Amino acid sequence: MKTIGLIGGMSFESSAVYYRQINEAVRARLGGLASAEVIMHSVNFEEIVAMQKASRWDQAADRLAKAAEGLERAGADCILICTNTMHLIADEVAGRVSIPLINIIDVTATSLAASGARRPLLLATRYTMEQGFYAERMRKHGIEIMVPDADDRTATHNIIFDELCAGSVRDCSRETLLGIIEKARTAGADSVILGCTEICMILDPAALSLPGFDSTTIHAEGAVDFALSAERDRKAA
Ligand code: GLU
Repeated sequence: MKTIGLIGGMSFESSAVYYRQINEAVRARLGGLASAEVIMHSVNFEEIVAMQKASRWDQAADRLAKAAEGLERAGADCILICTNTMHLIADEVAGRVSIPLINIIDVTATSLAASGARRPLLLATRYTMEQGFYAERMRKHGIEIMVPDADDRTATHNIIFDELCAGSVRDCSRETLLGIIEKARTAGADSVILGCTEICMILDPAALSLPGFDSTTIHAEGAVDFALSAERDRKAA
């Protein structure tokens, strides 16, 4: 089994979900008491949020790249950045290590494409919905994302940072997000991307009015596919 390197802490609420889902997937696939080989570098999110607010993406890239270098030195065979937003600087991080970075946008796009979805609503932070990096990378996979209108983007962003990242899950916020999804469905969306790694805390992707794609689960599964690929090769031989 290969070792999964996680850059977490953004927020620690979602990193805990990654840790559980990766281990559950390994146990489900290998049976018994099997669990994943994982190394996590969990950062202080307050520092990263300050860099986001100041648009110091260069500083954030350097910070996460140093974490990735440390994970590689510690024996990780791949890197995951456990947040969609920080994929804004994923290529810079990937360029600083010699092990593969499993990109959350690529694995999510692959999952959408495999199910035939082409016009998903993206629910995410303001950075992910507005800065272009996410839409551009999705487009390379033939997927054209929709984003909520300005007021709904603000509402979604605030639910993520003020509530979910702080460990608070509120029914009224769930209703707000379901209302945003309903508007998008009427406007022609064929699916929904839970494009922030905390949104799975408040929305069940299987219980929406459109097919839901949870970036956290898809990313975690992608890591397990990678980690167990050698086992598969051995079994096939
Ligand atoms: N975890 C979130 C995401 O997937 C937001 C936290 C962050 O800004 O990194 O985008």
